[in-house]
Amino acid sequence: MNTVRRLRQLRGAIKRRGLDGLIVSNIINVRYLSGFSGSEGMMLVTDERGILIIDSRYIEQVKDECKEVEVIERRLGLVKTVSNLARRLKLRVLGFEAESLAYSGYEELRSAPGRSKLMPTKGVVERLREIKDEEELANLRRALDIGETAFRRFKGELRPGMTEKQLADRLELAMKKGGAAGPAFRTIVASGERSALPHAPLTETRVGKDGAVLVDWGASWHGYNSDLTRVLFLNRISARARKIYSIVLDAQKRAIDTIKGGVRVRDVDVAARAYIEKKGYGERFGHGLGHGIGLEVHEGPKVNRANRRLLKDGMVITVEPGIYLPDWGGVRIEDMVLVKEDGCEVLSRVSKVLNEAVV
Ligand code: ZN
Ligand code: ZN
Repeated sequence: MNTVRRLRQLRGAIKRRGLDGLIVSNIINVRYLSGFSGSEGMMLVTDERGILIIDSRYIEQVKDECKEVEVIERRLGLVKTVSNLARRLKLRVLGFEAESLAYSGYEELRSAPGRSKLMPTKGVVERLREIKDEEELANLRRALDIGETAFRRFKGELRPGMTEKQLADRLELAMKKGGAAGPAFRTIVASGERSALPHAPLTETRVGKDGAVLVDWGASWHGYNSDLTRVLFLNRISARARKIYSIVLDAQKRAIDTIKGGVRVRDVDVAARAYIEKKGYGERFGHGLGHGIGLEVHEGPKVNRANRRLLKDGMVITVEPGIYLPDWGGVRIEDMVLVKEDGCEVLSRVSKVLNEAVV
């Protein structure tokens, strides 16, 4: 794992903010910086040190996972241990992650004797995580491959009369059999009119014999996630569904065609949105176009109209336009795209050709 390089980059970011050290309490960020996949721990990163603080439960695990970082087994509470370390290292200005450190933890830091000056930070490690390295890309590709292989099998087994919940369970089981640690998130299977809900909860609704089914799913592999959406039609596809599907697919293509390093994130959203608006369905596309994906299913950058930041080589984002018509249903098509300096690579391969969506 490239934790040495990641820590080096983090040190640059810490310095630019005028900090002597950063307490990393977000456990996903801890994993990114150390390789530690446990559920409880913190890091203290300074100019010279990168210390992972864990408890005795994880001693064996870190021997495998965290070969490149310094590990301390704590006897006291997490925050207490971090704060003692900061004092020992004489850190004057100490950053903490405002979005993940509990208020009680903050209070504890603040009242520690000989404490450092505390500075809230937001998104420091998250920004680094936006750019994927080779190892991360390999994990993402594997997570995708598992999800796609499972989906192809699922598609072959899809029959009218099955419930949404049964279908979701089947797809998740296929991903596990394919090697996934589990689904990246609870699979969405929304049939008929229920597909008009962008985040439809699973129900016992049965899939009709000429119904549509929206499936939003992903697999988790070594902590990395995939996230895709396809809509399938049983036996036939209505003229209206054909029209809506084509608009969404064309909108997605327009968005993907704009993706490359140096382009404003918002322009990718607008490319899809303007097209859907032109076709008269602007009001029916209520969410942002996509999101970054990696150790978390939803991470930076947010791909929406408001994001004026630039795309960078190595970012992986989803592109998922949708049109949702109440009392009828919805179509969303979601793929994962790797941003490159001179263009992009669509990482997902599972078919979205309309005729192949009919099963
Ligand atoms: Zn999704
Ligand atoms: Zn998504």
